[in-house]
Amino acid sequence: MTFCVFFVKKCYLCGRNTENRMMEQLLKNLNDRQQEAVQATEGRVRIIAGAGSGKTRVIAHRYAYLVNVLGVDPGNILCMTFTNKAAQEMKQRISRLIDPGYINDYVCTIHGFCVKFLRKEIHRLGFPKTFTILDDDDKKAMVKRVMEAMGIDRKQSTVKKHLDIIGRTKGALRTDYVGSLMLPNSTEKPTAEHLFFYNYVQEQLRLFAVDFDDLVYFTLYILHHFSEVREKWQSELNYLQIDEVQDCDADEWELFTILSGGLGNLCVVGDPDQAIYEWRGSKPQLFVDFESDTDIILNQNYRSTPDILDVANAIIDHNRDRVPKELFTQRPKAVRVVHYHAENDVEECKWISETIAKAVKKGKGAYGEIAILFRAAYLSRGVEQEFIKNGIPYSVWGGIRFFERKEIKDALSYLRLIANPNDDLAFLRVCNVPSRKFGKKSLEWLAMLAANADTPASLYEALLASISMPELRRTKMAEFVRVIEDGRALIAKGCGIGSTLDQVLTNSGLKDEYRNDEDEERLENITELLHSIKDYEDSHRLGDEVATLDDYLQDIALYTNADYRSDDDSVRLMTIHQAKGLEFPYVFVMGLNEGIFPSHRAIRERLKPAEEEERRLMYVAVTRAERELILTESEGFSAANQCGKYPSRFLMEIPSDLVEVKGRMRPYLYEETQNMVNYLNEELGIEGTVYYKEEPKKEADDGEIRAGDIVEHPVFGRGLVDKVKENGSCEVEFTSGRRTLLPRVLTKVG
Ligand code: ATP
Ligand code: MG
Repeated sequence: MTFCVFFVKKCYLCGRNTENRMMEQLLKNLNDRQQEAVQATEGRVRIIAGAGSGKTRVIAHRYAYLVNVLGVDPGNILCMTFTNKAAQEMKQRISRLIDPGYINDYVCTIHGFCVKFLRKEIHRLGFPKTFTILDDDDKKAMVKRVMEAMGIDRKQSTVKKHLDIIGRTKGALRTDYVGSLMLPNSTEKPTAEHLFFYNYVQEQLRLFAVDFDDLVYFTLYILHHFSEVREKWQSELNYLQIDEVQDCDADEWELFTILSGGLGNLCVVGDPDQAIYEWRGSKPQLFVDFESDTDIILNQNYRSTPDILDVANAIIDHNRDRVPKELFTQRPKAVRVVHYHAENDVEECKWISETIAKAVKKGKGAYGEIAILFRAAYLSRGVEQEFIKNGIPYSVWGGIRFFERKEIKDALSYLRLIANPNDDLAFLRVCNVPSRKFGKKSLEWLAMLAANADTPASLYEALLASISMPELRRTKMAEFVRVIEDGRALIAKGCGIGSTLDQVLTNSGLKDEYRNDEDEERLENITELLHSIKDYEDSHRLGDEVATLDDYLQDIALYTNADYRSDDDSVRLMTIHQAKGLEFPYVFVMGLNEGIFPSHRAIRERLKPAEEEERRLMYVAVTRAERELILTESEGFSAANQCGKYPSRFLMEIPSDLVEVKGRMRPYLYEETQNMVNYLNEELGIEGTVYYKEEPKKEADDGEIRAGDIVEHPVFGRGLVDKVKENGSCEVEFTSGRRTLLPRVLTKVG
């Protein structure tokens, strides 16, 4: 049912009422089904649609329709979505449609709403309005503190396990723990297995701190236990609309149900094919089972070209656990989707960087129109280096630049201190990483020793000279000195930089710390750093001559001290999870290798459902692209997975006629992918898919050398042909530098 009410005001010029004109204005840029969705304001409404079909657009227009046409006060509309970026995007879209000043704070993420709610209501539970919100790092630090206080050995049981206990227990008790354990006057004593949990929440209570799970549970608790609060919010929030609802969990659904309990106007919008958070407890089935008064299905995609859409549809069609959807587009056919295959990851990143530089130079697009998406954060390292080298501005969305990540800075500081004991900054960064009980006072004492030495010494030198002093006995600084001195000895003996760093990270206890914390992301980043150092050493070896640690540190300073320009016109780098709901004219999906994407770790943990979730993630990645989609992967060795790299099964799921293959793709590579898939399926006992992929069409090999070919030179080795000049000579990028050579001295490889 739709109501268009209160048409009272008239336009002085044409005599038509202004609401009518506003409605026409609003609806004219929507198709029939979208218009229907916008006007279906009352009752329980469900909008199901594939990617890029205008779900978010409908929500924004619906909001404007409520305000501009129905005259609803924005303070009575709660509009929620999943990520901060998506909420920002939603706010921007709404602000273009309604009068400035009208948009209110209730266009936000679900957690954002809970914070607003709790700032107003948490005093009812004895918490101050200024309660603290714990982020993931704060939570970890608290878990460590409680483990220490309870004498739990971190070698026996990891921080991650204890974090899981907290999450699991809160999830199991739901709002029960709030009343019985977390309120200032709560008295209930915990059962034995809840002892750790009890101590943790007491610590939270001491700090008046809540974590992300608590935000929802506290809100639910108040809504359940204080009827006057519940009624107040229900009467205030007349219209609820939730975007990306396929990723909400049962608690969030409960929140929507309670909050919409006044007038009962709840509009949920989502796409089951884009459910990518089941690993974190989201329940897309609740969206499928939602009992609605009105169902609207949108099936026209406005975002992508037909080529991109065909690729997306072909991939998602391989999921068995789904309701098929017909998604079409009327956009004209444009360029084909590209699959670029490289011989190694350096070449993959170089190609991405060069392709972008060339396109922008030709005026084909701007940096800000390009996004690089990847499955895991560590994969950004290679492109970041290429971008910095070539002066391509970029920003990492929802994350930190590779060389600014804590574990990378720490690892490089160890190397700096090994190379140069006078590097006080490196010393200060790592002397207590991991903790060696060398506090502020001890540091002041050391600084005094250093300053008063006969010849002023650095902090490390002062420490080395005084290592047997009683002041240091209770600290672990002797171990630290041993780590650095052993590292120096290894370098002096000619041991490689990567192997030395690996040893240092092990001896320092840092690797163990990450392992004990089950901090996969830090471990992956460290593995990636070690892998990149090995590459550096390989490419800087000239006969018996090898790169020194000083060479490496000097070269890497280019990246660690890069003067970043990061404005709106910069290439966006982000994980696919961060890209949800967003769109970009040009999209690169990189690192498309079996094991990396789909992640074999995820499949090992959650079997077939994980494979399907990974495929939905691929669908999300592909459907971010508006004009051009470029899929890249490379051969070589995956340090993160400790195995060879072969193209992802998702590439095999794309019919050959939908992609243009660039680079030297050899047919046996897909065979290897199939072997890997079969092997994993057999090992895990999951039913597999046998792919049929036509061999990539061989380019007619007339022996002529073209740009993009890999060539071999008798002296300079392998290189990538960047350009063939008019006079026939080739510009080739070798690891030792760029050279222009006659084609007769080059042999095509592959
Ligand atoms: P996702 O599933 O990725 O979240 P979505 O269904 O929310 O996608 P939108 O982001 O709302 O899709 O829309 C995709 C693109 O298509 C946007 O640029 C939007 O402005 C445009 N679009 C949607 N509907 C129309 C329409 N009727 N006319 C013109 N453009 C449209
Ligand atoms: Mg959307």
